Amino acid sequence: MKSHWRESAKNPVEAVALAPDRPSCLSLRGVKDRAESTYAAELDGVVKRYGSNTALDGVHLGIEAAKVTALLGANGAGKTTAVSVLLGLTAPDAGRVELLGDVPQRLAARRRIGVMLQSAALPDTLRVRELIELTSSYYPRSLRLAEVAHLAGIGDLLGRRYGRLSGGQQRRVQFALAICGRPELLFLDEPTTGLDVEAREAVWAVIRALVDEGCAVLLTTHYLEEAEALAHRVAVLVRGRIVAEGTVDEIRAQGVSRRIRCVTQMTVEQVRAWPEVGSATRQDGRLEIETTVAEPIVRRLLDADPRLAELEVRRAGLAEAFVQMTRESA
Ligand code: ATP
Repeated sequence: MKSHWRESAKNPVEAVALAPDRPSCLSLRGVKDRAESTYAAELDGVVKRYGSNTALDGVHLGIEAAKVTALLGANGAGKTTAVSVLLGLTAPDAGRVELLGDVPQRLAARRRIGVMLQSAALPDTLRVRELIELTSSYYPRSLRLAEVAHLAGIGDLLGRRYGRLSGGQQRRVQFALAICGRPELLFLDEPTTGLDVEAREAVWAVIRALVDEGCAVLLTTHYLEEAEALAHRVAVLVRGRIVAEGTVDEIRAQGVSRRIRCVTQMTVEQVRAWPEVGSATRQDGRLEIETTVAEPIVRRLLDADPRLAELEVRRAGLAEAFVQMTRESA
C-alpha cells in the first residue's frame, strides 16, 4: 500500500496530527445520529474517483470496537484509498465517513488513533527513543517509553539511529509509534511484513491484548494467514467494491470450501457430472475435486471404486476463498 501523507508531514502520525482541523462538508449526519453509531470508524456509501478511475465505488465498511477487521484486496483494489479517507487525508466524492464518532478531520478524534503504514518516511537521523518521545507528545495519554519499548520488543534499540536499523527493526519501531498513544483505533497495514517468526508472534500478541482492552483494529493485508490468525471480521475489496464481508469462517464458506483428493480409477469426466462437484482435475496421478459439501461425494466415490485409496478431505483456507472471489468479481 502506498503512502498518501501530506508532504509537510515527516511521518504518518505527524500527518494525522498536522492535518487541518476542519469539518468535512461530506459528513452530513447530525450529532444525535453520530452518537448512535456502534462503529469505531465507518465508511457509508463512500465513492472516490481519480479522474475516470473509481477507486472506491460505494463502500460500506464498519470497524467495530474490540475487534480486528481485516480489509483484503489485490493491488489497486482501493485499500489505501479507504484508509486515507477514514483518516481524513483524502476527501471522498460522495458518502459519509466517521472516525470515533466524529468527522475524521477533527484533531480530537485523530489523537485517539494509531497508524502504521508500509512506507513510513521517518527521519533517519533521529534515535528510536527520540522518535517515540516525539510521537508520544502528540497524544494526550500516551504510554510510558519503557512500556512501549517492551510491547514492541525494541528495548535494545532505543539509543540507535532509525536509519541504521534493519528493515525488520524499523518495522518494529513503526509498530511502537502506532501504539504509543494508547489508541482506541489502530490502523495497521501489513504490520508484520519483514518480521521474523518470533517478532511476528509478539506483534500479534500485542494486537490481541490491545483488542482485549477494547481497541478497534483495521488491518489491511495481502498476507491472508495474518488475517486468518487475527481477524474477527473480514471485508474483501475488489476494484473499489466490497464483494464479501463476514467472519473468516463465513468468508471461507462463500468460496469452494472443501478439497477432496484420492487415488482412483474414476475419470475426471465421470466425476464432473456428479451434482455438487465444483471442479474435478487430475494432478500427480490423483483425482482432485472442489466442492462445498464433501460427504455425499466421498460416499459416492467409495461406492463407485472399491479400490479407492489415499483419500483426503481438506477445508479450503481464506486464501483460496479470496482468490476465487477476486477472480469471479474482476
Ligand atoms: P496496493 O495493494 O497495490 O497498495 P490498494 O488496494 O491500496 O493497492 P489504492 O492505492 O487505494 O489500492 O488504489 C486504488 C486505485 O486508485 C488504483 O487504481 C490506483 O491506481 C488509483 N489511485 C490511487 N491513488 C491515486 C492518486 N493519487 N491519483 C490517481 N489514481 C490513484
